[in-house]
Amino acid sequence: MAQRHAVVIGGSLAGLSAGRVLSDFFERVTVIDRDTYPDGALERPGVPQSRHVHALLARGRQELERLFPGFDQLMCDQGAHELDFGLDFATLRVDGWAARESDWLRLFFASRNLLESVVRGLFRKLPNVTLIERTTVTGIDAVRTGHLRATSVQLCPLDGGAASRLEADLIVDASGRASKAPEWFRALGVEPPQESVVDSFSGYSSRWFKAPDPSRWPREWWWKGIWIDLKAPEHMLAGVLFPLEQGRWLVTLGGVAKHYPPSDEAEFMAALETLRSPVLAETVRLAEPISPVYSNRAMANRFRHYDRWQGRLDSFIAVGDAACAFNPVYGQGMTTGTVSATILADCLKKYGPLNPELARHFFRAQGRFQTSPWMLATGADFRFPETEGRRPAGGKLFSPYFDTLFQAGRDDLVLHRRVGEVLNMLKSPSAFFEPAIMARVARWAFRRKFSRGGDRARPIPAMPPSLIPVG
Ligand SMILES: Cc1cc2nc3c(=O)[nH]c(=O)nc-3n(C[C@H](O)[C@H](O)[C@H](O)COP(=O)(O)OP(=O)(O)OC[C@H]3O[C@@H](n4cnc5c(N)ncnc54)[C@H](O)[C@@H]3O)c2cc1C
Repeated sequence: MAQRHAVVIGGSLAGLSAGRVLSDFFERVTVIDRDTYPDGALERPGVPQSRHVHALLARGRQELERLFPGFDQLMCDQGAHELDFGLDFATLRVDGWAARESDWLRLFFASRNLLESVVRGLFRKLPNVTLIERTTVTGIDAVRTGHLRATSVQLCPLDGGAASRLEADLIVDASGRASKAPEWFRALGVEPPQESVVDSFSGYSSRWFKAPDPSRWPREWWWKGIWIDLKAPEHMLAGVLFPLEQGRWLVTLGGVAKHYPPSDEAEFMAALETLRSPVLAETVRLAEPISPVYSNRAMANRFRHYDRWQGRLDSFIAVGDAACAFNPVYGQGMTTGTVSATILADCLKKYGPLNPELARHFFRAQGRFQTSPWMLATGADFRFPETEGRRPAGGKLFSPYFDTLFQAGRDDLVLHRRVGEVLNMLKSPSAFFEPAIMARVARWAFRRKFSRGGDRARPIPAMPPSLIPVG
């Protein structure tokens, strides 16, 4: 009897996570990528976003450790910084410096290249997987036995070899936000799923630095990272500094509503000085640039609605950015991709790997999950009037509540913790609507309204307050 075989298109984070799950249910798993994988934590052309800061949410870290036991340890061994954002980052929110308060969460700060190379190394250790490099998938073949069923992928090797086909019992598209699946469906005569696009016209510019020798670091500077929110309309640029492995820093400027940060080196350095606090520019002055400035504007939210797809192609599923990509400002993409792998495992357990209904069940379950990060990301993007696209139902209604909740979270530890849990995807946004949470938000808003000074704006210090927590 032929061995059951699954093929994954794209061997990045979502593809490797899905491949890991498939290796439990299929005799063979083949992951195909058009890139040559670097030897170690280096960039590659297929993932240009790796040049920019990548925050892995707490849920993503949990999922990766569960899928790839040993992930945490390897990240630490290879120099990832394990930090408590609330304690270790100087964070300037719209209404002032965040109090220096623990988030109760330990997050990894490392390059996206390191993250992927650790996952790839652990994936390669699986006994029944093959990684094919330098090969582009150019289409899908299908047969009609009742419904249309995907049977193989069309391959084009990049080193000049002959085009070929690879048969599979299940095909997983993990080829990222620029997935060509809609074109492949049209070639098969199948209407692609509808897409929702919400674009706030955001962009990043990033530059890498060698961190200074600790002897040059002022004693009162307690921060290990910096986060400066933008404040519309006066300050349309945000800026962050993430510490990375190997004594490096990654500094990213983010703009919204077509206020794209500059890609020219001198202009980038000058733009650091225009942020709401001089702390980032002053910190960076101590460091040595080790890269040019990289820019990325492919940041619109794009939901391919496989969950309500009228067309049908059995034995084909899509995960990660190929199914739903977010404005990366909210750090949800990698985590969502890893959660999709867990959803896939649940569906494979429940329905079996060869069940013709597997894809439809999976898409519905994945769509239910993706709706929450989608609502959060697009809801936040719609704070800017320039944002284009369809506003999710109820988004406008809830946004004043969210605004109050986030502000209250800076004073109230219970709310602070809940905000952290939801933004890190450890809880769903419905956790914001538990009666006890809503009551705390109401109490905070009431007290603020009637407290002395009320809404009167307090001046915000230019530099982060010193070691003593302000709260
Ligand atoms: C500027 C920027 C910053 C970001 N910051 C964050 C962040 O802070 N936190 C976060 O969680 N997420 C962030 N993201 C999102 C994150 O990068 C993605 O969500 C994540 O990489 C998606 O993983 P993926 O595996 O679905 O796709 P990708 O990582 O995009 O990988 C797709 C893979 O498919 C391969 N491929 C493509 N087409 C083919 C083909 N036809 N044949 C064979 N191989 C193919 C590519 O070579 C690549 O390896 C950011 C994104 C951007 C653009």
